[in-house]
Amino acid sequence: MEKVSLCGLSADEIHDLIKPGGFSYSHALKIANSIYKKGTTDLLMVPGIPKKLKHELESLAIAGLFKPVSSLKSSDNTIKYLFRNSKGLNYETVYIPDKKRNTACVSTQSGCRMGCPFCVTGSYGFHGDLTAGEIINQVISLPDADKVTHVVFMGMGEPLDNTDNVMKACEILTAEWGMAISPRNVTVSTIGIEPEIRRFLEKCECNLTLSLFSPFTEERGAVVAVENRYPVNKVLQIMKEHPLKKRRRMSVAYIMISGLNDTERHLDALKKLLDGSDIRVNLIPFHPPPGDKHLSSSEERMQYFRHELVVSGISASVRRSRGADISAACGLLASGLA
Ligand code: SF4
Repeated sequence: MEKVSLCGLSADEIHDLIKPGGFSYSHALKIANSIYKKGTTDLLMVPGIPKKLKHELESLAIAGLFKPVSSLKSSDNTIKYLFRNSKGLNYETVYIPDKKRNTACVSTQSGCRMGCPFCVTGSYGFHGDLTAGEIINQVISLPDADKVTHVVFMGMGEPLDNTDNVMKACEILTAEWGMAISPRNVTVSTIGIEPEIRRFLEKCECNLTLSLFSPFTEERGAVVAVENRYPVNKVLQIMKEHPLKKRRRMSVAYIMISGLNDTERHLDALKKLLDGSDIRVNLIPFHPPPGDKHLSSSEERMQYFRHELVVSGISASVRRSRGADISAACGLLASGLA
């Protein structure tokens, strides 16, 4: 019988596994705490549970934690890790240390099937979904796991094309019995799959960010295939109308490409689209994939956009580029470490 991977199970599910042996929910909590908070890989080393349970657990399950197979460090200290799961799927994780916040950027799929032309992951193609355990393992098995304060689902893959596993991973990241990270510090990024956004907003308390690219439907549709099925106006309406819980933040990620989506026309349309909402705008520099001749908007242009949005009452910031020299920046992940 194949052993169950404990990483990826909730405390209730661990309890279901050990209940037939007469063990209690508090034993399940100890196991979950040991795996998710301490990264215990040897089940005989789980503290505070009877010896009999340790041996029973070992015969039934594995911890399900595994280290990255290689890494690359950027001149700005960002580190990109390559993970490989038991099926041989490759996927990358980026660790971004900063003064007060240290972010793990995790993948949700090996590759991606959305095919956005400005993204290297899109051209890598789709190789498979990651399980909740494989998503969580990208945080727990980092060498700096104990320093991680924030988790963003912005690595390889479209998170809401693998919603069940992503929501389960969010549950484990934020649960007291799990990694106990505040939902305020966990952000899921999507290209805008409307029915999945509804599900996510109803069931999960983590932050949501929408990759916009252009405020114009025709322009966005030429780049983001899902626009033709789920127009951005409708998606933003759902985000605007959803009652904002204190802890949740909604935002729009706007990758800025010189001459393409950084004109006055785009700025005006962006203001109109977000007028009167609490949705924040993150302006992101463009990192051209190899062979792409487009350039990022200049720092000045990005700051101008930020200023104009803020003056019109829309919260906005310019995101600093990290890890571009090791292809770890936005849109450049494609298992290039292998
Ligand atoms: S931008 Fe996101 S959704 Fe589009 S191909 Fe890249 S990873 Fe997939």
